[in-house]
Amino acid sequence: MKKILIVEDIGLNLDLLVQILEDDFELLTAGDGEKAIEVATRERPDLILMDLSLPRLDGWEATRRLKSSELKDIPIIVITAHAMVGEEERARECGCDDFMTKPISIDLLMDKIERFLGPLEEQPLG
Ligand SMILES: [Mg+2]
Repeated sequence: MKKILIVEDIGLNLDLLVQILEDDFELLTAGDGEKAIEVATRERPDLILMDLSLPRLDGWEATRRLKSSELKDIPIIVITAHAMVGEEERARECGCDDFMTKPISIDLLMDKIERFLGPLEEQPLG
């Protein structure tokens, strides 16, 4: 099972992402940017979902640091409530690989994840 690190500080948002992804992926979580870097360094996830507004170290800076480290090949999809003009450009400047806005579309999220990780394995029935 591929490993995804979810970086999100709001419990309800985190719960939603966990519900969407828990059957298909091994999940790791972090509630701030410093923790995100710590967990990513230790666990080497296959992909990171990154909120931008985070305590301690925000998602822009955490992404910038990850993308200038030995972990730079891990795809980072930014998920943000910031839907303002210029926000995507600003996020992409810190090196994220993809970008989507809240509220989360499950189909769009799964499309984006599969684009980086390949198609999901068929789950055996029963
Ligand atoms: Mg947040």
